[in-house]
Amino acid sequence: MAQLKIRTEHDPALRKKSRPVTEITPRILTLLDDMLETMRLADGVGLAAPQVGVLRRIVVIEVTPDEVLELINPKIVSQSGEMTGVEGCLSVPGKQGIVKRPSFVRVEALDRNGVLQTYEGTEMLARCFCHEIDHLDGILYTDKADKILYPDENGEYEDSKA
Ligand code: ZN
Repeated sequence: MAQLKIRTEHDPALRKKSRPVTEITPRILTLLDDMLETMRLADGVGLAAPQVGVLRRIVVIEVTPDEVLELINPKIVSQSGEMTGVEGCLSVPGKQGIVKRPSFVRVEALDRNGVLQTYEGTEMLARCFCHEIDHLDGILYTDKADKILYPDENGEYEDSKA
């Protein structure tokens, strides 16, 4: 496995629409492995391929340790509710934001074997599905945030009072 470079906010790759994966090649499997390693080394819970400069519809998520979700061509097929919470992004260092997201989402995606899987998420996982799938369409959470938070001198982010 290899650690990949994570692109940050003003990199054009983050603003492009990623293309679907048409065939799960050994290269795609290596990319999934490398994305997982890169995400873990960066202490993240989700990573989308455009964040490492690959414009393909691929996401890895690990909201619960050792429960790795590998999503190829993910789609939100249903969603409901609304929740407001704090969100950050490995591609937007030094900021957090208050973002509204659905409180429940159902996602369909191919796994690494090319089998269509359905996932349901609430709370952190729902937020993560939405955030990562947005990356595949060139959308950053900062586009949707009601408020952007910056750390104070101790590196702590202010509580949301907005
Ligand atoms: Zn992100």
